[in-house]
Amino acid sequence: MGRARMVSEQLRRRDIVDPHVLAAFGDVPREEFVDDDLKELAYEDSPLAIGFGQTISQPYVVAMTVQALRLEGFEKVLEIGTGSGYAAAILGKLVREVHTVERIPELAHMAAERLARLGYQNVQVHVGDGSLGWPTNAPFDAIAVAAGAPRPPPSLLAQLAIGGRCIVPHGEASSQRLVRITRRRDDEYVEEDLGDVRFVPLVGAEGWPHGH
Ligand code: SAH
Repeated sequence: MGRARMVSEQLRRRDIVDPHVLAAFGDVPREEFVDDDLKELAYEDSPLAIGFGQTISQPYVVAMTVQALRLEGFEKVLEIGTGSGYAAAILGKLVREVHTVERIPELAHMAAERLARLGYQNVQVHVGDGSLGWPTNAPFDAIAVAAGAPRPPPSLLAQLAIGGRCIVPHGEASSQRLVRITRRRDDEYVEEDLGDVRFVPLVGAEGWPHGH
């Protein structure tokens, strides 16, 4: 399976209709975000191992998340869980500025090196506990959480701009509901259900305890 077929069969044939989102998936070379021995599987309809017990998400799950953010192009976006850097690269194609936070330094450094080599100049990789967000660059127009939380981290919701959207999987460690939380006003948030998903755990102060 190649990139064009991935876009048509895994994304367009399901419910990914945003033309900018489809174009971004057509542009970003997913094979550059996995190890050499997995390159031939880069466009499969599944997550893949990236080391340290972590995964690069299934393309459809990234597309569903990114489409649900309803991006127009001017946004400053925060991603929690850089992993391989693939979703950050997709976001980099779609918006003005991307900040992505990864708790495992080795993954963060590999992703940063890869994103720089591929020319994603509007993506900044930070090492830290993303369950606390990234206050230095807040507020954000959109936040995408790529790891499952026990509940939506309050720090992240506090770093949303008014009108901003946060996509976050939350629930049990083994399965979560993916939700969109929109900040309507300073103290008013609205949550919508996007379906059942399965992410690796968000480990941190407002996520699961380490070793969970
Ligand atoms: N978006 C990634 C998928 C990453 S999987 C991609 O496109 O490849 C989830 C990632 O979240 C893992 O790399 C994991 O180490 C990271 N993670 C888990 N808890 C975190 C936290 N509190 N802060 C930042 N990153 C975290």
